[in-house]
Amino acid sequence: MAVKATRRMTCRLCGSPKVERVVDLAPIPLSENYTTDAETAKRAERFPVDVYMCAECGHVQQLDVIDPEYLWGSYTYYSGEAKGMPEHFREMAERMIAAAAPPAGSLVIDIGSNDGSLLRPFRERGFRVLGVDPARAAAERAIAAGVPTETALMSLPLARRLRDAHGPAQIVSAFNVFAHADDLGEMADCVRTLLASEGLFFFEAQYLADIIDGVLIATIFHEHMSHHSVAPLVRFLDRHGLELIAAERAPIQHGSLIGTVQLKGGSRPVGESVRALLALEADRRLGALETLRGFGAKVRQIRERTAALAARWMREGRSIAGFGAARSGPTLIAQLGLAGAIDYIVDDHPQKVGRYQSGDGIPILPTAELLKRMPDYAVILAWVHAQKIIEGNRDYLDRGGHFVVLCPETRIVGKDGDVAI
Ligand SMILES: [Zn+2]
Repeated sequence: MAVKATRRMTCRLCGSPKVERVVDLAPIPLSENYTTDAETAKRAERFPVDVYMCAECGHVQQLDVIDPEYLWGSYTYYSGEAKGMPEHFREMAERMIAAAAPPAGSLVIDIGSNDGSLLRPFRERGFRVLGVDPARAAAERAIAAGVPTETALMSLPLARRLRDAHGPAQIVSAFNVFAHADDLGEMADCVRTLLASEGLFFFEAQYLADIIDGVLIATIFHEHMSHHSVAPLVRFLDRHGLELIAAERAPIQHGSLIGTVQLKGGSRPVGESVRALLALEADRRLGALETLRGFGAKVRQIRERTAALAARWMREGRSIAGFGAARSGPTLIAQLGLAGAIDYIVDDHPQKVGRYQSGDGIPILPTAELLKRMPDYAVILAWVHAQKIIEGNRDYLDRGGHFVVLCPETRIVGKDGDVAI
């Protein structure tokens, strides 16, 4: 089946046609797509993931949009399984309850609820919960775990129907999906429709300043359509009858932004955190095209360095494996010039072992193979967990193996620590 992809011609936040390409990247296949044979995997279609910036409002974004039915329909990422996420969600639920102070039994709606992990702590506290997510397998897990879930993409007609059926929500959350929606205007209108007059909307998204500082190339794939910063968001929310009242940075995913939003004219004051990040962004010139072009130049440098390293190892007959069949794998391999260098990827996910990664056709083997095969180098593709992977695989290092860390700079780690490149 052909995947439908389109190219937006205007900014996702303000509609301006003045969008400029600032980071050139290699096209990649859809992530989280594992097939049962290598040939089918290699034939997977690739789509651009270049990064653009709006010269009008400064929003940094991708303009190549994959039909959400293909992007999410067979999605097999479960947030409850991701390391550290259940704890993070529990903590976030407590923060949201503290900020919104919802009356007992209030309605909490999570947009992009995945397997219901964020809503479970709310349900345990006696709140009514409702999830919305188009990924069928994840939604089924949520329902089986007792979290009512609409298996659908959030849309204005759906938001109206949910409001009519369940009443207004005291808390609406959209963790990560705020970066995942193409039509953010409609998403904002959905939030406004769902929220009670004193309700609060919370979102989490990767923060542009952290993407630039950490050179987080691994987070640039089709699902991440927006790379948010505070200044463009404040104006965008205002146009949609919403107001950003708090904006905090969190270490999750190597740098996220957690926003708290009320209906425009709500009773809460705009917090110091919003002013502080606006000042930081002005100081760092995050809204300037040159800043993003500089980031693009840094990505090119890292690609050249990594590709040269991989080419040298291949000439020397070294064996190279990948560690972690992560969502970021195909983009790291493509953007850092590692195509053709990695023989196999080790991972223990039951739905991935024995399959092939889309695009490169690299087989996925159980992690036990790392010690059996002892590759000279194991490139960490599950970049978020690099430190834990290194600590958890001392045996491999002690026996002469090396881990390769890709972000923010290429590093090689051996049994005695970093090795000179
Ligand atoms: Zn714009």
